[in-house]
Amino acid sequence: MSADIIVIGGGPVGLATALYAARSGLSPVVLEPRAGTIDKACGEGLMPGGLQALTGLGVDPPGHDLRGIRYLARGRHAEADFTAGPGRGVRRTTLHDALTAAVADAGIEVLPFGAAEVTQDDDRVTVRTDGPGGSGPALTAPWVVAADGLHSPTRRALGLDRDHRGGNGDARSAQGRPPRRFGLRQHYGIRPWGDHVEVHWAAHGEAYVTPVADDLVGVAVLSRRRIPLSESLAEFPQLRERLDGAPVVTSVRGAGPLRQRTTHRVAGRVLLAGDASGYVDALTGEGISLGLAHARAAVTAIGQGDPQSYERSWRAATRRYSLLTHALVQVSRPAWTRRLLVPAAATLPPVFRGAVNELARPGR
Ligand SMILES: Cc1cc2nc3c(=O)[nH]c(=O)nc-3n(C[C@H](O)[C@H](O)[C@H](O)COP(=O)(O)OP(=O)(O)OC[C@H]3O[C@@H](n4cnc5c(N)ncnc54)[C@H](O)[C@@H]3O)c2cc1C
Repeated sequence: MSADIIVIGGGPVGLATALYAARSGLSPVVLEPRAGTIDKACGEGLMPGGLQALTGLGVDPPGHDLRGIRYLARGRHAEADFTAGPGRGVRRTTLHDALTAAVADAGIEVLPFGAAEVTQDDDRVTVRTDGPGGSGPALTAPWVVAADGLHSPTRRALGLDRDHRGGNGDARSAQGRPPRRFGLRQHYGIRPWGDHVEVHWAAHGEAYVTPVADDLVGVAVLSRRRIPLSESLAEFPQLRERLDGAPVVTSVRGAGPLRQRTTHRVAGRVLLAGDASGYVDALTGEGISLGLAHARAAVTAIGQGDPQSYERSWRAATRRYSLLTHALVQVSRPAWTRRLLVPAAATLPPVFRGAVNELARPGR
């Protein structure tokens, strides 16, 4: 098989990379070992910028329009509407089906194999694959985009993983590192009670409520504590009341630790995109939007035959998300600042609005 780009991972970022590549006249092939519609632990809020990027690719998944973000804690609330148009709450399965259909329409092949080994020389990259029946084909192409998720095996194998390098360096960097956070999510068959993503703040974590259909609401909890979702929800009495009696319609899915750091995003002819390229936290609900910006930038760099330019465009796309998300994670660490967060946002609406829209606006 001849391809210009091998895309490792058929999540939203991998599939979008393949669509951007096809639009640029390049021929991509996607490797994704998981069969059928893929679900994943996610808050499922597409921010306006991400939604616009998706529709720009001809992908318009159904869901529930999102007007903005609402923070709640101890009877106080702060609300900020998006100024760049609506976002959308979309079930991950719906998003995956919509992207898969667009990829099929574009004639892009998705092969049911995982990348097992990536080797390269000056001109090309070879990806050895495997699948349920053992070894798969070895694929060769001038470029690889690895969009294989939060725990990207490709990132690790290429030594681009900043926190898993072992030795003394690893021990040193472990000191002062922020505590690890984890995410859990589940869906409730209930009519949404609002058009905002609700973020309920409690002492040990946050609960994100995203309407994703007329009769479906997703709840994701982010926390340092690794306890069952039912126990986590006990921290959110207002939300518990809302969900009382609503049927639980999906099983719990989890992800984490969320923070993943990379040394570089490019190794020779391999470019990392989406969560594989590094992740701060799900607190600002930006992962998919940011990953779509990476996908576009990676394909542009490949089209120009200048992979190093991707480091610059990746930084430009990621900077404001990283700064704001990191700042929010840090500010919300000590119990006393955490308690003040929602009252402060309620007291300073322009600041809250500014931060929400700084994150929500389309990428440049
Ligand atoms: C609790 C939680 C809440 C979140 N809330 C939001 C939100 O509200 N809004 C938002 O935009 N983002 C949110 N995110 C982030 C979002 O889920 C991710 O940013 C997004 O899924 C990244 O997409 P991706 O394609 O990079 O990775 P993934 O979606 O993880 O896809 C990676 C794919 O790579 C495949 N893969 C893995 N290994 C291999 C291999 N060796 N070979 C081939 N394929 C492989 C996997 O099977 C998978 O399909 C949240 C995340 C969490 C954990």
